[in-house]
Amino acid sequence: MAKATTTIKQVLNYQDAHAAWFAANQALFNQVVAFYFEVIQAHERVLDLSDKEALRALEKLTHTTKKNPTPAMPLSALVEDAPAMFRRAAIHAALGSARSFSSHLSRWKKRKAKAQARGKQFTERPPVPPRTWNKSATLYAGQWKERTSSSIVLKVWTGTCWSWIKVRITGRELPADVEMGSPALIRRGKHWWLHTPLEKHFRSPPTIEHQVTTNTATTICAVDLNLNEHLAVCTIQTVEGTILATTFIGGGRRISGFRKKQLGRIARNRRKTGIIAESEQDNVHLWGKITHVDEQIAHLVSARIVQFAKEHGAKILVFEHLGSLRPARGKYSQRGNSKRAFWMKGRIFTYAKYKAYNEGMLTSRVSPRNTSRECARCHSLVARYAAGQPAEGYTSGAPLVFCQACGMRGHADRNASLVIGQRLITRYQNPSQGKPQAPLRGERGEQSPGVAACQDAKSEEGPSLPQARHADGNEHGTAQEGSLRMDEHRSDIPHPLRFPCES
Ligand SMILES: [Zn+2]
Repeated sequence: MAKATTTIKQVLNYQDAHAAWFAANQALFNQVVAFYFEVIQAHERVLDLSDKEALRALEKLTHTTKKNPTPAMPLSALVEDAPAMFRRAAIHAALGSARSFSSHLSRWKKRKAKAQARGKQFTERPPVPPRTWNKSATLYAGQWKERTSSSIVLKVWTGTCWSWIKVRITGRELPADVEMGSPALIRRGKHWWLHTPLEKHFRSPPTIEHQVTTNTATTICAVDLNLNEHLAVCTIQTVEGTILATTFIGGGRRISGFRKKQLGRIARNRRKTGIIAESEQDNVHLWGKITHVDEQIAHLVSARIVQFAKEHGAKILVFEHLGSLRPARGKYSQRGNSKRAFWMKGRIFTYAKYKAYNEGMLTSRVSPRNTSRECARCHSLVARYAAGQPAEGYTSGAPLVFCQACGMRGHADRNASLVIGQRLITRYQNPSQGKPQAPLRGERGEQSPGVAACQDAKSEEGPSLPQARHADGNEHGTAQEGSLRMDEHRSDIPHPLRFPCES
């Protein structure tokens, strides 16, 4: 069985005074976590135990009961009457941090020992335990009750006593078919939210290799991510090579324009203020705006990709490796913009991967080498050009491609996404040769008038081994509206994206 976890985030509506209580509750929670972290440091053997056993051991060390009247390090010295479930949530949080710290420390010790054994100087500093604690309070059962879709009753530390308060909830409702984890009280800016982890259990999908090699009807969704207008171009194809659908997810120019404007503002502000204090974030508001919009676009695009794949019954998502960031030239706003666009591609991949997994789809990546230069039909090198220009040469970023070997004409990004999908299939079907297999068996019903037949289109211009990673960075084109030749099967998903910062 596989498990998918998502978090439902709901806004809490509460009286003004309650915000101070939530803050007091969180502060106390962190004090108790810090206390238990210390206890664990003093009794390191606890970390050899399972979580359950460790919990029992730590309670024995700290919790005063009739049977255990004088624990070694009583929690009551710090807080008199912490509810059992509050204490246990804090113990688990402390255990998590202690385990993480301990494994960092032991890795550091290993590196040190290795360096010393070789007689090398070792200057890396050891990891240090957290100096401050800023964990959100998890509410175990017993710390909350009477949860409905619109309200919940929470037990919190008000600063002076433990109190039950009823708060209203707005936001997404909890789906029915999932297992609910313990909610947590999260502060975001000035406002408090309730985050609830949800677990869904399903049969783990068979491996990609199994799906690709044993079932010719397996469909995959290949995604070409771009820095330009079409943030993502997705194609659905079967492992036999039949192309079933394509979608273009736009909005790239607007997000880029938005970002550039904000970065330009930051640059101007910096010129005005002169030197920026070290370790102090300047233009907090503007940076926040950019980050927020980038994040939201990454979520929108990844959700759209997965939705498209799901609608067409795809079982596997495939991307290309991102390659490395090529430093852009130009003004501050241009450099910053291309860097952020690159990061956003990474985020789209990460989000799509987990969203796809929640739908039972697996995700893979292939070598990005020449994905834009190769013909998806015959694997020759293509000419890339803009509308109205001769179909020759290779203009990086131009929207159209033409293959002299087989006569294929089409949209450059769509061609790239087809090549990406084929690389995944080739990897498993011809694992010994890195070479692509025979040309696509057919783009049935997909041929546009400009596409000539390609019977004898065999090519030696194959891609490199699919296993080769992080080859040159990829840069695909500025796609222009109205230039989509091969794109008969547009998705019915509406586009372009709604821009989150529009009011
Ligand atoms: Zn070709």
